[in-house]
Amino acid sequence: MRHVPGPPSKLPGVGTTIFTVMSGLAAEHGAINLSQGFPDFSPPARLIELVAAHMRAGLNQYAPMAGLPALRAAIADKVLDLYGRRVDAGSEVTVTPGATEALFCAVQAVVHRGEEVILFEPAYDSYEPAVQLAGGVAVRVPLRRPRFDVDWDRVRDALTPRTRLIIVNTPHNPSGAVFARADLEALAGLLRGTRVLVLGDEVYEHMVFGGAAHHSVLTHEELAARGMVVSSFGKTYHATGWKVGYCIAPVGLTQEFRKIHQFVQFSVATPMQAALADFLVEAPEHHRQLAGFYQTKRDYFCRLLEQTRFRCTPSPGTYFQLADYSALSDLPDVEFARHLTIRYGVAAIPVSAFSSGARVERLVRFCFAKDDVTLDAAGERLKQA
Ligand code: PMP
Ligand code: GLN
Repeated sequence: MRHVPGPPSKLPGVGTTIFTVMSGLAAEHGAINLSQGFPDFSPPARLIELVAAHMRAGLNQYAPMAGLPALRAAIADKVLDLYGRRVDAGSEVTVTPGATEALFCAVQAVVHRGEEVILFEPAYDSYEPAVQLAGGVAVRVPLRRPRFDVDWDRVRDALTPRTRLIIVNTPHNPSGAVFARADLEALAGLLRGTRVLVLGDEVYEHMVFGGAAHHSVLTHEELAARGMVVSSFGKTYHATGWKVGYCIAPVGLTQEFRKIHQFVQFSVATPMQAALADFLVEAPEHHRQLAGFYQTKRDYFCRLLEQTRFRCTPSPGTYFQLADYSALSDLPDVEFARHLTIRYGVAAIPVSAFSSGARVERLVRFCFAKDDVTLDAAGERLKQA
């Protein structure tokens, strides 16, 4: 067949996501997959029953574009309960197919050609391609090591008259770092008098450890007024494969957001939405207890890592744990992650996949959202490394 040359790539620097690559490699080599972030246990049985019941009852056609009213109301109630902010379920909450689509639509909705978007590095992999497709320019500000906290002076230096958006991710993937109240204050102070908007990626909002609070953008009056906040039911309900999330934003921003969302996805799986609406009302203890549940897993996994030559500081949030492998190998992290998968049978994510620069770090990310038997088996293999 004759090869017809394709058009120039819109994302010339982009390959296949590291999560796809590492999960593929794990499957190919029968490795324990602690790379891509997903639980190996099920959503609550009751939630699954509710989905099935709604399917049987006939909820199998398009949901409204912005989401089922009952789910939007339940989200608004949760936001009031947890963050003390009353958001309007009709005009400020949009249900989305996961956080990924919400982040993409949020960026497309507000970033114009040539405008700058500040990201913190390491940055979740979907942010920069979204910025590029909007014609924007990503400006990466490195997080401070070893705690992966924000140096707000560097953010001040990165702000220009062209800055349109800043993307903040707390709790942070891959480091697990969480914002303090002072971070929100610093951000608000820097943005006062500017036109810069805030995109809060808060998909790990219910996984903050040590009794600390999750400092949502929604808890801050000034930031909420210029903020779009994204979350994901996939993380909270052990259901990453359902791809249901949401975006909360003031009316004007939500209107622009929906103009994009309606043509990217239009609407989200109806029976899942109905079940999540019921479950949020029926079982709020699920999200209230999630931090304790994952803190126990983190501690369990860190104790296993203590018996290996990996070094780590327990993650303050998320279901990820960074581990330093410098005592094991001099390989760059991408090669080390491949080697660990193929030779020792445990897959992890190289942290450089979240970065653009040439920083040399001997860090990999493990996902500990796994049953103890899985973590035990991984621990045994990591001891051999
Ligand atoms: N943001 C961050 C920081 C994530 O880690 C993830 C996925 N793990 C997402 C967004 C995407 O979430 P979803 O699966 O709901 O699209
Ligand atoms: N967010 C998940 C992670 O960080 C992966 C999601 C995906 O594969 N796109 O592992």
